[in-house]
Amino acid sequence: MTQIDHFINGQRLSGGDRFADVFNPATGEVGGKVALGDAGTVETAVRAAAAALPGWAATPPLQRARVMFRFKALLEEHSDELADLITAEHGKVHADAKGSLTRGIEVVEFACGIPHLLKGEFTENVGTNVDSYSVRQPVGICAGVTPFNFPVMVPLWMFPISIACGNTFILKPSEKTPSAALRMAELLSEAGLPDGVLNVVNGERDAVEAILNHPEISAISFVGSTPVAQSIYTNAAAAGKRVQALGGAKNHMIVMPDADMDQATDALMGAAFGSAGERCMAVSVAVAVGDAADQLRERLVPRMQKLKVGPGTDPDSEMGPLVTKAHHEKVRGYVDIGAKEGAELVVDGRDLNLQGYEDGYFLGPCLFDNVTPDMRIYKEEIFGPVLSMVRVPNFDAATTLVNAHEFGNGNAIFTRDGDAARTFASRTLTGMVGINVPIPVPMAFHSFGGWRRSLFGDLHMHGMDGVRFYTRLKTVTARWPTGLRAGADFIMPTMS
Ligand code: NAD
Repeated sequence: MTQIDHFINGQRLSGGDRFADVFNPATGEVGGKVALGDAGTVETAVRAAAAALPGWAATPPLQRARVMFRFKALLEEHSDELADLITAEHGKVHADAKGSLTRGIEVVEFACGIPHLLKGEFTENVGTNVDSYSVRQPVGICAGVTPFNFPVMVPLWMFPISIACGNTFILKPSEKTPSAALRMAELLSEAGLPDGVLNVVNGERDAVEAILNHPEISAISFVGSTPVAQSIYTNAAAAGKRVQALGGAKNHMIVMPDADMDQATDALMGAAFGSAGERCMAVSVAVAVGDAADQLRERLVPRMQKLKVGPGTDPDSEMGPLVTKAHHEKVRGYVDIGAKEGAELVVDGRDLNLQGYEDGYFLGPCLFDNVTPDMRIYKEEIFGPVLSMVRVPNFDAATTLVNAHEFGNGNAIFTRDGDAARTFASRTLTGMVGINVPIPVPMAFHSFGGWRRSLFGDLHMHGMDGVRFYTRLKTVTARWPTGLRAGADFIMPTMS
């Protein structure tokens, strides 16, 4: 059994005597034991991060970028190993795990451009013989708290940009999927990152609270469920920290009657059941306009019945298990609730039984039709392979429905009508919009984030918002007067 430690000051550190089991979701077996850090562990990490900060902040951005270039190469070299770690602890299929790594590597590529991204602004002669320039400086020690579902990609949204901006960083990965973060910290060290610049503290709520309470940590990036995001935002802001906290989602995909139904069906299959629906950008609600509903239903049902569910290590599997026994029970419970609430359970994945994997956390894909907005399966985030179809009469009803939901992460529309698509993109109250694209996850040089209860804070992750979040702006106004001193000036200075 693997022991999963912390990574502090450039080395693995086994801390304390508290551990939690990490399961292999395909078999239900315990694959490792993760150390549960506490306030003492966080203090050790902060000491390392504080000691490394002055030297790293003073390192020229070009040299920081060169570390990122080497890190990118190492991530690529170790891509199978990292994907294996993701599959072993999360359960998603290997190819999907590799895809998520690629999306993370794109953020490292973005961070490689940090000398350009940090270039400030300069104005000559803001007043007579007076110049002004703005610079972006690091905020100090930053921390990241990440969810179970993207053990590599979500941490990579945070620490490469933070570190490239000259900060030091403490990462608290999910206790359910901790191994890949530890391995990435080792690779970054191998890439030449000085000790103490990136530290990984494993643990649960105690470790997060110690991060929130630590006066020397200046900024917190969080990704996880909405109740935790909201509480992290509130507590971190009250403690005077800069904070961005991304929460849960219930992403809708509107299908107009003029859409290409085969394309829309393909899109729904991938977006609802890829990664067993455990994606914050998964589509969990299909909003079928007019007669789109019957057309979708007749295409979806046979496709769902043929979907290959199996362990993520099997190259033929299209969908793996859910992450833990508790989560499996929760998602299954929602299917029971939906059936009781009166939604029509068209495809029931609860009966799935995989020979040889009876103790794994597998659930087959589920489809509910005639779901209504008052049902819990519509209102709440299920985070599993459960697709709800809501029938609406027209485009206006569809957009009103989407905008009335509490979450606003990503939404999509499938149509051939440019006017409908444009109106939807303009009106929808979400941070990310797809037009004939079911999962519109922005590339690294754009920013990722939702609206409403899907994000607490002002700035999205990566892209220029990432650079803004991890830097403080300073504007210098300078002159070099010669000759006679003018004497004290008691009026409000104006530049003339
Ligand atoms: P979670 O909120 O349970 O946990 C996220 C992190 O917070 C973990 O590191 C965990 O240890 C820590 N944590 C849990 N409870 C805590 C508490 N009470 N106080 C302090 N820290 C706590 O989320 P999860 O189950 O790991 O991940 C799934 C959720 O994340 C879903 O809601 C999903 O939509 C969301 N998510 C959102 C995005 C996004 O970009 N908006 C991306 C990925 C996942």
